[in-house]
Amino acid sequence: MNDSTNTPTAFKAAGVSITSLRKSYGSNEVLKGIDLEVKPGEVVCLIGPSGSGKSTLLRCVNLLEQPNGGTIHVGGFDATDPDVDLDKMRRTVGMVFQQFNLFPHLTVMQNCTVAQTKVLKRPAAQAKETAQKNLHRVGLSDFGDRYPDQLSGGQQQRVAIARALSMDPTLMLFDEPTSALDPETVGEVLAIMRSLAKAGMTMLVVTHEMSFAKDVADRVIFMDGGVVVEQGHAKDVIGNPQQPRTQDFLKRVL
Ligand code: ADP
Ligand code: MG
Repeated sequence: MNDSTNTPTAFKAAGVSITSLRKSYGSNEVLKGIDLEVKPGEVVCLIGPSGSGKSTLLRCVNLLEQPNGGTIHVGGFDATDPDVDLDKMRRTVGMVFQQFNLFPHLTVMQNCTVAQTKVLKRPAAQAKETAQKNLHRVGLSDFGDRYPDQLSGGQQQRVAIARALSMDPTLMLFDEPTSALDPETVGEVLAIMRSLAKAGMTMLVVTHEMSFAKDVADRVIFMDGGVVVEQGHAKDVIGNPQQPRTQDFLKRVL
């Protein structure tokens, strides 16, 4: 990929502050009092075994799931205040999923403009211009007329990133964005994420890509069984973990 296609520009950055977050499904307590902070412009990677509650935590941050207790502040919003303007809050948070979740019947360009026009009420021309800028950022300027099934997995995930960026988020959540990709396309998606991090985007990233976490994250948080077991500088947590559960996990994934 040509690096000139994703020249960094500054983002508006917002932080996340979570205290004592709890979430249960029936009698299954999945999050057991999570405290977590992402400062504006910071990149935090969340690691941990399957079933430890990572996706649930991300989904609570933009209230795709309703927490049972605790507080979540995102930018200027208090997400657990019953009077919060949920739609407005969610618009500031971009989310990228493992399974891309592009609209299959819409072109790449339409995927990137539909929420801008419907949710943000942007005029079509402005929405298109914003989409084009972000497709350029992910190296897919010439792909606007294609449909998702005409793209590789890596390209689809780059469109999903461009789509999220087109809403001008102040925070990006990534839930295992490369786990569904063929190995040869993982690198192109990680490169885009790296460039976003460099450009100052606030990012909370669930990933099993330990070398990405080590290189790009300001901090790494290891979760297991619905609690934060260990957190710190990426190089410390991944390179020299202190807790036995973190050590076991890293032995298995590294
Ligand atoms: P991770 O992303 O770390 O693999 P998840 O947050 O997806 O973990 O899941 C944590 C636990 O919550 C698992 O035991 C899972 O079965 C349960 N869980 C997740 N989503 C739901 C749901 N919508 N309904 C019931 N249980 C769920
Ligand atoms: Mg998950």
